[in-house]
Amino acid sequence: MAEVKLTNVKKMYDNRVVAVQNFNLTIKDKEFIVIVGPSGCGKSTTMRMIAGLEDISDGTVEIDGVVVNDLEPRDRDVAMVFQNYALYPHLTVFDNMAFALNIRKVPREEIYERVKNVAETLGITEYLARKPRALSGGQRQRVAIGRAMVRESKVFLLDEPLSNLDAKLRNAMRAELIALRKKIDSTFIYVTHDQTEAMTLGDRIVVMKDGQIQQVGTPEEVFDHPYNLFVAGFIGAPQMNFFDADLVKDGTKYTVSIFGESLELSPEKEKAIKANKIESQKIVLGVRPEHITVVDKDTPDSFPITVDISEMMGSEVHLHCSCPNGQSIIVRVATLNLSPEEKKALEPGNVIYVTFTGNAMHVFDPELSRNLTVPKDIEIPASFNDTGDTVYIQETEEDSLKNRQADELADLKQSYGENLAKAETKDEQAAVKAQYKADVAELKAKHKDEKAAYKEAEKARLAEQKERALAMEAELKQKKQLEKAKKNGIVVDEDQDSEDNK
Ligand code: ADP
Repeated sequence: MAEVKLTNVKKMYDNRVVAVQNFNLTIKDKEFIVIVGPSGCGKSTTMRMIAGLEDISDGTVEIDGVVVNDLEPRDRDVAMVFQNYALYPHLTVFDNMAFALNIRKVPREEIYERVKNVAETLGITEYLARKPRALSGGQRQRVAIGRAMVRESKVFLLDEPLSNLDAKLRNAMRAELIALRKKIDSTFIYVTHDQTEAMTLGDRIVVMKDGQIQQVGTPEEVFDHPYNLFVAGFIGAPQMNFFDADLVKDGTKYTVSIFGESLELSPEKEKAIKANKIESQKIVLGVRPEHITVVDKDTPDSFPITVDISEMMGSEVHLHCSCPNGQSIIVRVATLNLSPEEKKALEPGNVIYVTFTGNAMHVFDPELSRNLTVPKDIEIPASFNDTGDTVYIQETEEDSLKNRQADELADLKQSYGENLAKAETKDEQAAVKAQYKADVAELKAKHKDEKAAYKEAEKARLAEQKERALAMEAELKQKKQLEKAKKNGIVVDEDQDSEDNK
């Protein structure tokens, strides 16, 4: 039995870096929990606090109802496997695995029995007499896991245990871990930055960003109902497409208006939005590349996109395309049942028609980044940073320029403070102040130039985008007219034929 409960856990380094905050999670006995998030989001810190390798600044960590905040790592009954699974090079595999048990003075027969059983489970019996250097990366990884397993701990902590392995081995080890956990009666907490690992291994996954939990759920829940834009963009590859669109409320009906089309939401999504009492509003529409369907151009609710780049992935092709308004979009198409003509139609330069409706559409509030179908009473530790600004998944160029400039000014201010502190005489202080003033003026002038250059480039980009949209619109109109004429022509011909036959 091992339930792990974290309540309001916070970690602050050096009284200034908040690495983890508001962390609330109950990990059930024998559950396999995966903590996933980008580098620096606080995954390892959380893990290290559970292990006892890091002090907890605030909140409590409980294992089986006992607060372990002040317990030494060895007294917590947790086993750890880390990324750099350092094995003792001078010891055999057997001795590496037996090491912790020897220290704990477990009787020799029992050590032998435990190591033998674990080695059998992991398929490493034949290497027990070898030294680590005579093992492959995957075998060493297995020994590292075995070393943790022989301790028969209640909780297993694995921190990026596969990240040192090459892609093929990682896939194999992932499958082994899935098989292995069925044989081990422990609670697993697994940290990774790899969303595929998270999706395939976790009973539930915890998505983190900026030290906070963004969402906890089964892989399906997180994939199908991402709570906010961050989770939507982080889980799934290639990344979910995002578009500016409008949610239109008409009586009790909600539709999504985009590129001049009015697209229907699934009844389930519509119901959820209605329950949240949402009015018509601007939204960010999210659609996964695999949920976009390539269709004939006459299909209702479809719109044209231009293929820019086509990436052949084997069983599928990833099409990087441009929408009528110039926004980019990625479409994933399975290639198995495509005819040669259909494949040719997907080549770069071609215009194709696509559609997406119903459950494929995820609707987000652009300000709060929140999924509008998530019940209002569910608290989402939204994607806000410390300053209270919304953090978007992709920083716009303008934001990135602003942030860089702010950083440069802050750096200058900091070095001014340091230099001022070093200045011993009044004259020196005056010199430092004068230099700072001059530096600030110079930096501000540089920032002004950069801003002007950015605005100029942005203007050109918008003009080009508009031109492109107009050209596409014109092309589309022309095509539609041609289609119509052709259709009318055929009808006339047929009529004439039938008239002639009479
Ligand atoms: P992750 O495992 O998700 O990559 P970490 O938990 O290692 O992230 O780090 C979270 C944040 O805490 C990062 O901003 C990191 O720079 C900071 N951090 C980690 N360890 C320390 C430390 N010992 N001192 C100061 N800051 C740290």
